Amino acid sequence: MSSFESLGIRAEILRALSDLGFEKPTPVQERTIPTLLTGKGDMAALAQTGTGKTAAFGIPLLERIDTAVHQVQALVLAPTRELCVQISKDLENFAAHLPGIKVVAVYGGASIRDQVRGIQRGANVVVATPGRLIDLLERGAVDLGQVHTAVLDEADEMLNMGFQEDLTTILERTPPTKRTWLFSATMSPEVRRIAKGYMNEAEEVSLGGGNKANEAIQHRYAVVMARDRFLALKRFVDAEPGMFAIVFCRTKQETQELAEALTRDGYNADAIHGDLSQQQRDRVMARYRGKNLQLLVATDVAARGIDVSNVSHVIHFDLPGEVESYTHRSGRTGRAGKTGISLSIIGVRDVFKVRSLERQLKVHFAYVRVPDAAEICERQLLTLIGKIKQVEVDHEAIERFMDAVNLDLADLSREELIKRVVSLEFNRFLKQYRNARDLNVDLASKDRKGKTAAPARVEGERRDPIPRPAGTMRSMFINLGTKDGFDKGRMLGYLCGISGLDGSHFGRILLKEAFSFIDIESSVFDQVMGQFKAANYKGRRIRVDEGEGGGNTGARDFRADKKRFNKARRQ
Ligand code: AMP
Repeated sequence: MSSFESLGIRAEILRALSDLGFEKPTPVQERTIPTLLTGKGDMAALAQTGTGKTAAFGIPLLERIDTAVHQVQALVLAPTRELCVQISKDLENFAAHLPGIKVVAVYGGASIRDQVRGIQRGANVVVATPGRLIDLLERGAVDLGQVHTAVLDEADEMLNMGFQEDLTTILERTPPTKRTWLFSATMSPEVRRIAKGYMNEAEEVSLGGGNKANEAIQHRYAVVMARDRFLALKRFVDAEPGMFAIVFCRTKQETQELAEALTRDGYNADAIHGDLSQQQRDRVMARYRGKNLQLLVATDVAARGIDVSNVSHVIHFDLPGEVESYTHRSGRTGRAGKTGISLSIIGVRDVFKVRSLERQLKVHFAYVRVPDAAEICERQLLTLIGKIKQVEVDHEAIERFMDAVNLDLADLSREELIKRVVSLEFNRFLKQYRNARDLNVDLASKDRKGKTAAPARVEGERRDPIPRPAGTMRSMFINLGTKDGFDKGRMLGYLCGISGLDGSHFGRILLKEAFSFIDIESSVFDQVMGQFKAANYKGRRIRVDEGEGGGNTGARDFRADKKRFNKARRQ
């Protein structure tokens, strides 16, 4: 493997790479950097996320910037705001010793005025999501007439998200002589069409080829009844105390509900999805990056571009519809030379999806069993013992208490003492898993012929596995909704502000234009209702009422409540 020096990179950037601890180029960097530095043409590179592709295009892009020119010379387009922020940070890091490089990230959900100001202050590199950049173009706030390098990052995902028209509009505003570099994890016919349409005889670079998954990732699957997926997820987490995972769901609602259900059961989890404000997303991501959060529950879109090192597991609570999404999800682990596990917890009826992924990705999915009680308890016990062995003891500080402690414990034998210390933490698991049943579905016995594809419907199978806090919640109607400027995040903030409680007391929030329903823990329900009855919103009297259905703001309850609301309004 070559060194960064041998790729022809200038000294200032080499210094920055060394500051970042990059010792050797990754294969994609080795393959693309020399061509992008010296060549003149376009490039379409097939590269997985996590392979170092940001530096692969970022370094040559920075080398091409004339810092004396205070105009946008390079444009990077990426599908999500998270990825935009990540790329611009990476570029700033690579340019740490290159004075005069000014990178501005442009994406929705943040102040457009600040972004315009950033551009007007002489940005020479813009990293943007297509939607927000179109906004800026329409306002005449950005001029792309001097762009000599355009990068389309995660092109496949931009197309999946419906940005094709926006891409055309944006690229039409750039000079035809520019160089275009396209990076994509998959080379679908749509991506190929884009490469043909927007680029001139692009050189195609493929690392690993096709829809091939990253080899640093082990693919595993466990089969349970669909309704047992939540229990199975908890068992996998309990069996792996060092787990640091992203759990994928298909919908925003499921993502939110799963994170809430995990939190209720004592797990350190939070959700990231498109219904959260940018600020809320940033907060969740900061906790996750700082490893203060063990389980990040995410939708596909929200997790795009998340670059967090050491993600040990990607867990598919729901398998995605497309193979590309599976590849992107899995690519959140096994990054930068590390290994990772991509685990699918599937209902029996989804086994055929695993087979199909195996065929398309040409990788083997290893069948694993959901850990049983004995296994979980053993692993927890060993971890606890490891912690006891490794804990740092401040001998000096503890010394003066030791006489009293020894006196108090004098009656206990060494053996008894150890048992008690261990039980302090271990009891929870013993209790939880006493009489725990086996969650695994034995596929062979379901289909005597040994075929596992598309098993018949299993009696009693219900697909929705996430437990709702039935009975523990009551529903409150409030005459404030989206037309008053509320989204779920704002409503939660407002609820916390008026009630003085933290967010954990509130459950699902169902927002409508003129009113909303909020699930509130029964123990604080009357208190919250009382506080809201006395409250005003922007000078308007607030009306609250108890919704029907005893919490669990589901569709049926909502219809009943809406009827009641309309009736009340007519009266
Ligand atoms: P990317 O595919 O650009 O998102 O990069 C994935 C991760 O690999 C990021 O955390 C980078 O900081 C890291 N990385 C990129 N190139 C290198 C390298 N040559 N050596 C070590 N780490 C790298």
